[in-house]
Amino acid sequence: MPNSEGAALLELQRIDLELARERAQAEHPAALERLKTLLATSKRVSGLITQLTGRVKDGEMELSELSNEQEHLTAEIEALKERARTEVMDHRQQAWANEQHASLMKRLDKANYAGEQALAALDAVTKKRDEARAAKARLEREANKVKAEIRSSMEDARRAVAELAREREELVATLDPGIVDAYERASKRFDGLAVEELHGNRPSVCNMALEPKSVEDAWRRAPIATCPYCRRILIVGEGEG
Ligand SMILES: [Zn+2]
Repeated sequence: MPNSEGAALLELQRIDLELARERAQAEHPAALERLKTLLATSKRVSGLITQLTGRVKDGEMELSELSNEQEHLTAEIEALKERARTEVMDHRQQAWANEQHASLMKRLDKANYAGEQALAALDAVTKKRDEARAAKARLEREANKVKAEIRSSMEDARRAVAELAREREELVATLDPGIVDAYERASKRFDGLAVEELHGNRPSVCNMALEPKSVEDAWRRAPIATCPYCRRILIVGEGEG
């Protein structure tokens, strides 16, 4: 317990600032933003997976069509060969069969080439989709870790708030209610930083150099004066030797 009213007010302010910080942490943990980013990224990756899965299906379909075409052309070529072997052809028919054979071979070459291309494209897009799936799994693991972190930091903050509130209550019980009231009004006005300490001729918060006459005046009112510049509660003589 602080041994003077000045020290007690400084302690009260320290508790209140810490309380505000812990309450903010309990309501809005720092890791929450990280979790939001992770979830947003995970959602984008899910969209990408859907898109890539669609492209894998398209690729598989294209490959299966090309493979049908290859089979069909191969069968036609075989049938043509069979006719050439078994049928008696005149010169004109022979020429037609040769031309037909060349055309079918050309189409088969094209289909084979397209098949290779389609297979390479399918492999590439399948690889991309698998990578996206792995990335999504990593993001989910990370998000679960951050969620656990958030839960535990919220619990810690709530515990700290309860502890600080108890400390505050004990401290306030030792103080003159008039002083506590003045502190609370100033705390609202100065957004939690209502109390400053005089070090030499400088108050610790506003840090304005006081005139010798003001310093003298403050010492006359010690331990609790008012800063002539910023009007905060000015603690004089604490930790000054
Ligand atoms: Zn001041």
